Amino acid sequence: MHCGKRMLYEKPQALTPPRTDVVMMTPWLAPIVWNGTYNIDILNAQFQLRGVRIGLAMFAIKKYVVFLQQFIETAEKFFMVGHKVNYYILTDRVEEVHQYNFKLGEGRQLFTLQSPTYKRWQDICFRRMEMIRNYTRDRFINEVDYLAVADIDMQFSDDVGVESLSELFGTIHPGFYNLSRQSFTYERRAESRAYIPPDEGDFYYAAGYFGGTTEEIYKLTNYCHNGIMADRKKNIEALWHEESHLNKYFIYYKPTKLLSPEYLWDNRMGIPGFLKRRRFVAVPKNHNEIRNKRSIKEKQRASKNAKH
Ligand code: UDP
Ligand code: MN
Repeated sequence: MHCGKRMLYEKPQALTPPRTDVVMMTPWLAPIVWNGTYNIDILNAQFQLRGVRIGLAMFAIKKYVVFLQQFIETAEKFFMVGHKVNYYILTDRVEEVHQYNFKLGEGRQLFTLQSPTYKRWQDICFRRMEMIRNYTRDRFINEVDYLAVADIDMQFSDDVGVESLSELFGTIHPGFYNLSRQSFTYERRAESRAYIPPDEGDFYYAAGYFGGTTEEIYKLTNYCHNGIMADRKKNIEALWHEESHLNKYFIYYKPTKLLSPEYLWDNRMGIPGFLKRRRFVAVPKNHNEIRNKRSIKEKQRASKNAKH
């Protein structure tokens, strides 16, 4: 038996919970990760022993490239520090992304991957499932053990470490953690493959951060993409796009770990008392400006071309 460094820490208690103000376990015995409920030294040692490799995939399509720098720079400070990390940037602007020269820590690499683009922002969101499925099958599965998929209009402001990793993990959406099933914005039309009846559902999960082993992420993204394509044939689009399909998947294939809203916060929600850390936080954006409207420069370019 290999005997590494001695590790000293307080004995875990059987009768005294580390926190009593939040729920730390689902009825299917998946932990819900909150600050103060785990010892990161134990977890780091366990994951390092196995030499875990972690992928972080995010999309930077069209104007969303503007979020890239802050995302990567803050990830270098807070995301899986001390572990092997591959960033995968899926973009339609490979050349532009190549211009950034990110200084990465040891054991960390960044890859720019070509992604198609779509006219409608809704389609960009929907197609994330297909792109992740294909790249997982063709590449990620050979390069990393776990894959996390994140929105890019975000920044890290505190640690997101191996405590968050599991076979399949989802994040409780910051807008819905204390609401009833009926208030969840699940897809409610029975024609859609994302349909969830009013008496089902556990949590409302955010599409802005989820992950798992590459095998599990393949299954999840394949299921969601197939649902999206079936809906398309019937000319129906789920209310919250790929997030609706993700929520459907998680009802039947329950996540083995849940991340509390510490792992996806939006400061517009204020800072409630139970929230001890804000680890991954939305960067405010002008939705219309960033998703739809062309910039003045682009308009000028377009009208110039039209004249020629
Ligand atoms: N996205 C993109 N280009 C777009 C629209 C969306 O790259 O034009 C990607 C980007 O990674 C973004 C994600 O899709 O973070 C989800 O879209 P968005 O963040 O706008 O959704 P919201 O968080 O506002 O629901
Ligand atoms: Mn977002």
